Amino acid sequence: MSIDPRTYTYPDDVLRERIILITGASNGIGKALAVKAARLGAQVILHGRNTAKLEKVYDEIIEIGDVLRPSIAVLDLASANAEDYTALATSIENEFGRLDGLVHNAAIIGDRFSIEQYDAVTWQRVMHVNVTAGFALTQVLLPLMQRSEDASVIFASSGVGRVARGFWGAYAVSKFAVEGMSQVLADEHRHAHLRSNCVNPGATRTDMRLAAFPGENRDILKTPEQILTPYIYLLGADSKGVTGESFDSQ
Ligand code: NAP
Repeated sequence: MSIDPRTYTYPDDVLRERIILITGASNGIGKALAVKAARLGAQVILHGRNTAKLEKVYDEIIEIGDVLRPSIAVLDLASANAEDYTALATSIENEFGRLDGLVHNAAIIGDRFSIEQYDAVTWQRVMHVNVTAGFALTQVLLPLMQRSEDASVIFASSGVGRVARGFWGAYAVSKFAVEGMSQVLADEHRHAHLRSNCVNPGATRTDMRLAAFPGENRDILKTPEQILTPYIYLLGADSKGVTGESFDSQ
């Protein structure tokens, strides 16, 4: 019987000693996932662009007690160059020797304009942070994931990355691209110990959602902590063999 990732139940140590890098772990869904993964036994690598915010997440995890001490990886996905990516991979290699999970969670929303009015510089920035940086990070970390017996890559997608909506511009297009990148990666590693899948978290109470829908009633939105189950499923051993698929958290 196949498992529904949304209602998946798991033991308290389901991610025990799995080494997992989460991008955009300073805020929102990435932060909640980092804290949860640490609680479930993972060795978490907190990625972000703001050291002070990452240190707060680090402290929150340490305060849980009886968890593996997280690592911090600072890299601005808008401006990082090839040397920065290599330095990140080298530091993970030196500290841990392998990588079992990579969650491409960081993203920016850009502008909510029609294609006709969309600013070209903003378009490039959104595509760079949401798509090209994910490619660069995946590429540089693949050798470390190939050392894992069971590596899992997750791309954060969106409803507008599956069925497009007007005025969602580069963000929607970038999420279509992310769905494609995940499928390409999955196909290339179909016979290896590496899987790649997408998760659409759905409407979630974060700063990004607030930027997109400033007027909505936030009380009815799920919190980041409430939408994590498919991520946990995909990061743990129970999803071995599941690849090239797209899931919804809600
Ligand atoms: P969020 O609260 O805005 O968090 C985004 C994260 O990405 C933050 O940690 C942010 O860092 C980081 N980030 C942005 N630009 C970066 C850069 N240049 N370099 C490094 N890190 C950068 O967003 P969220 O709502 O949690 O979204 C997480 C993922 O879920 C995204 O991929 C989003 O597209 C997807 N999603 C969210 C919703 C929703 O309703 N919230 C719905 C569908 C899909 P700072 O803390 O430094 O800003």
